[in-house]
Amino acid sequence: MAYTYDDQNVFAKILRGEIPNDTVLETAHSLAFRDINAQAPTHVLVIPKGRYVNFDHFAAEATEAEIVDFIRAVGEVCRIEGVAADRGEGYRLIANAGRHGVQEVPHLHVHVIGGRVLGRMLPAAG
Ligand code: AMP
Repeated sequence: MAYTYDDQNVFAKILRGEIPNDTVLETAHSLAFRDINAQAPTHVLVIPKGRYVNFDHFAAEATEAEIVDFIRAVGEVCRIEGVAADRGEGYRLIANAGRHGVQEVPHLHVHVIGGRVLGRMLPAAG
């Protein structure tokens, strides 16, 4: 299975420093920044620095160092934002992929959303 990565996607431009971002955390292999169109008091996007289209691409081809760094970065963002479930009120992680997932930006990103009750997981089908 070949994945095609578009180097002109907006998160690739953020990683190259071509457009600004509101950074929450930067690690060796990951970057976390605030979503430009926040849906809740906490809405942070965590992305790997590597060229991965979506979660299944990352899971298949990322190095173990990249995967560990990314997962720990997501957890650290939860702590930084005060939503981690051991101390805060919790959060939701979302990783949209492809057409059915309604993914807008074709670079893996996990949404960390919290700070309010988020409602049921999915709206009614339609
Ligand atoms: P998705 O549908 O999962 O691909 O969502 C992409 C997300 O990226 C949306 O929530 C957008 O608001 C967000 N987004 C798009 N451009 C930027 C940007 N330049 N900086 C921060 N977030 C962005």
